[in-house]
Amino acid sequence: MMNNKGFTTTNLHSDRRSKPEHGVLHKAIHPSVAFEYEDARHLAEVFQGKRAGYSYGRQTNPTVTALQDRITAMEQGVASIAFATGMAAIASTMLALLRQGDHLVSSAFLFGNTNSFFSSLMRLGINVSYVNAADVAEVEAAVTETTRLVFVETIANPVTQVADLRAIGDFCKSRGLLYCVDNTMTTPHLFNPKSVGAGLVVNSLTKYIGGHGNALGGAVTDTGKYDWTRFDNILDTYRSGDSTLWGITQIRKKGLRDMGASLGPEAAHHLAVGSETLPMRVKQACINAQELAGFCDRHDKVDHTFYPGLPGHPQHERARQLFRYFGAIFSINLAPGVDCFDILNRMQTVIASSNLGDTRTLAIPVAHTIYHEMGANRRQSMGITDSMIRFSVGIEDTEDLLEDFEQALA
Ligand SMILES: *Cc1c(COP(=O)(O)O)cnc(C)c1O
Repeated sequence: MMNNKGFTTTNLHSDRRSKPEHGVLHKAIHPSVAFEYEDARHLAEVFQGKRAGYSYGRQTNPTVTALQDRITAMEQGVASIAFATGMAAIASTMLALLRQGDHLVSSAFLFGNTNSFFSSLMRLGINVSYVNAADVAEVEAAVTETTRLVFVETIANPVTQVADLRAIGDFCKSRGLLYCVDNTMTTPHLFNPKSVGAGLVVNSLTKYIGGHGNALGGAVTDTGKYDWTRFDNILDTYRSGDSTLWGITQIRKKGLRDMGASLGPEAAHHLAVGSETLPMRVKQACINAQELAGFCDRHDKVDHTFYPGLPGHPQHERARQLFRYFGAIFSINLAPGVDCFDILNRMQTVIASSNLGDTRTLAIPVAHTIYHEMGANRRQSMGITDSMIRFSVGIEDTEDLLEDFEQALA
């Protein structure tokens, strides 16, 4: 799968290398749900996993497979499965791998809907401990006899804590725990969780990888780093052949096939085309974020700026060591008496909107929107104040963004 070419070259040429029909450069959009075989025995062999091929669109589709191959190459993994959304990837993976009585350790600083989904897991009898994942000691202290996996994000939303990614990876390895990293915020261009020992990597393709806010999607990638023979919950049916593939097979069958949150071929095409410019977009967005966060940090209407690229950020050094750039998300707490809605309404180029990882710069008053349902107590424990604004910085010209911030905060 991986060759010795760079990230962009590999990505741009990945569809060509699978020898597509008519020599097309982009994998075609294949809407067909069903597939025909000249010899009916071949259909049976595809079903039994003895022959490569397609059986039914809920499980596999050529357009989606081409996108999965790109994600696998980006994460330098062994296999990926795409889902309809990032949440579908997380939920299907967890439900495929965990059972009642299991325990998982999660970062307390989590994407809001992942947090909400984990509370659904708790109602099903799967216990979740939330810890400050910026400190590996908290992860270690939370692990019990029944712990099956550790789940963290790279740069957390919206306060930008950076998990102790390498130390947690070392710890998981020593204990045989599955380490699952949500890489959405950093993207495989800034960081490969495989490099710190993650066994599974989740990416919301909706965000930076697709990058244009025009399609939803998610993926889970097996990096090949985890020894699945140590995972008790692999069903007997999937405990045969190469053990590297046991986990991803169970996720494909029990997660994708049975729960059915499949990615559509049209969305897969949009996401694949968007992914071709990932490095250029992310670089420009990170450069812009650094400028804007620095500007806010010096501004007297801003109480605090949260951005790993600022030297005063508690995990600034860690972020420098782990990531190519410092990411394109930053948040601010406004000074007392400054209203977050007034500032947002004055912004002209920056758009009040809930997505992130778009080409456009988007801003959201987090306590009143994406973290509203969570309640004041949990918000407080996550460091989210009522005046906090989160910015997802886009790829606009830096000067134009700075000008917009200047006039809105004047
Ligand atoms: C957006 C996001 C998700 C969920 O992705 P969707 O495609 O919106 O379902 C998961 N994790 C993180 C960190 C995200 O930002």
